[in-house]
Amino acid sequence: MNKINGEKSGMWRARLRMVEDQLRGRDIDIEAVLAAMNQVPREAFVSEALQDHAYDDNPLPIGEGQTISQPYMVALMTQLLDLHGHEKVLEIGTGSGYQSAVLAELSAKVFSIERSYALSQRARKVLEGLGYHNILLRVSDGSIGWEEFAPYDRIIVTAAAPQVPKSLVKQLADDGIMIVPVGNRTHQELKIITKTAGGLNTREGEGCIFVPLVGREGWREG
Ligand code: SAM
Repeated sequence: MNKINGEKSGMWRARLRMVEDQLRGRDIDIEAVLAAMNQVPREAFVSEALQDHAYDDNPLPIGEGQTISQPYMVALMTQLLDLHGHEKVLEIGTGSGYQSAVLAELSAKVFSIERSYALSQRARKVLEGLGYHNILLRVSDGSIGWEEFAPYDRIIVTAAAPQVPKSLVKQLADDGIMIVPVGNRTHQELKIITKTAGGLNTREGEGCIFVPLVGREGWREG
């Protein structure tokens, strides 16, 4: 995929440093995930004013009170999804579109839902500009999933849920994997859920802090 349009001078160096220090230097060890993180220009997904911070080791504001996640968290969740290039992935919380782009590098098709019209529109422009054609965006309440294209091989929720949304479990394919941060409004743990013939297998991953999933199977507004 051609990323020349998203490339700003010197940014490739900062990106490579991020991959080596923040990702490989921690526990990201799947080469395809590291390559995808080195491919997607994070600076294209943040405002002009934050360009120099695009590869900082933390989340950044993207407007509407929302954030683009820390690069490490994007890579970690992607690694946990165990993608091999042929999967149909549902993402809840498009935000800037950065995670969608990373997923699109590693899977067949990404379906991404955002509740904010303004953020979804901005993400669409950036993703189209970068030449991604395997991402379908929608504005709606992602806590109830996207029934029309279910089941999904993988589901990733990039906002904090009070409990695992039942609709999303239903829309997960057999042998599918879902990653969702579950906890209270200020702290969560990643839940890694695998759907098997025998039922659901759930294990707990890293502690994390996400903005709330607001919706029918998430938190109430406010
Ligand atoms: N994945 C994003 C990225 O790479 O920039 C970061 C996502 S941000 C941490 C969480 C996003 O979830 C916010 O943009 C927020 O508006 C969105 N969100 C919250 N509740 C939602 C819901 N019920 N359906 C869809 N999006 C939701």
